[in-house]
Amino acid sequence: MRIARTIPEARAAVASLRANARCLGLVPTMGALHAGHISLVRAARAACDAVVATIFINPTQFASGEDFAQYPRTFEADCALFESEGVDLLFAPEAAEMYPEGFCTVVEIEGVSDRLDGQSRPGHFRGVATVVARLFNIVAPDKAFFGQKDAAQVAILRRMVRDLNFPLELIVCPIVRDPDGLALSSRNRYLSPEDRGHALALARALCRIEERIVAGIFDSASLLEAGRAILAEEPAIRLDYLRIVDPDTLEDLPNARHGALVAVAAWVGSARLIDNLLIP
Ligand code: AMP
Repeated sequence: MRIARTIPEARAAVASLRANARCLGLVPTMGALHAGHISLVRAARAACDAVVATIFINPTQFASGEDFAQYPRTFEADCALFESEGVDLLFAPEAAEMYPEGFCTVVEIEGVSDRLDGQSRPGHFRGVATVVARLFNIVAPDKAFFGQKDAAQVAILRRMVRDLNFPLELIVCPIVRDPDGLALSSRNRYLSPEDRGHALALARALCRIEERIVAGIFDSASLLEAGRAILAEEPAIRLDYLRIVDPDTLEDLPNARHGALVAVAAWVGSARLIDNLLIP
């Protein structure tokens, strides 16, 4: 596995991969890898001739007071894992490489960016869209792999790919969970064993909503009430949002129709966790 630290190095390495790869896959991450990230790499390996992964903890998607400084950094272990999974090229730039003096261009997906996490974390999706657009330009992949875990991010990036005519296919991979249901996240490392137990209520709340839908209840208000009741059983959980929305626009839906997105975000101790469910 080659490691590129600068944009010219990444471009040169991509050009040499291109010589033998008809289909190039991109897996962007912030590192602190877990089985969720690896599922994206494996999907990319299966669908593409060569795989480029990135590790970049993007400062512009963290607001001041968020966990940018504390975000887990496990570069050596991440490299070993990517290498063992057959990643061909790792692009891991420093912040100064991605944001040189004078950098001032942003990608703003209007409206969608202000919903769900965008509402709680103003500017977050501007940071995400701007950096992902640049990774697309630097690597020029045929397919880019993202996790359904970050459902709002998926909505933002789908819109961006459409609106800015990026010539690539966005592939969304299912949420990988621990056996007890907790969605894997780099931020789970912030959880004490006790908080990890409390955090299971997120997946439980989604399951309760799914059960109600299977039982024939589609009214969003009563579904959300059932989900909130589960979360309220855990006083250690501070709910940010629990909503039933259109998966593309992220606007609230009065009824949980086929394809609707049930999304939850909550603070458990110092960790802000997200999880979601797509209504089949
Ligand atoms: P991150 O490093 O948290 O920015 O995540 C990098 C990519 O991995 C994003 O596309 C995430 O949606 C995806 N991802 C994170 N957690 C999971 C998970 N539990 N299952 C599947 N994909 C995930």
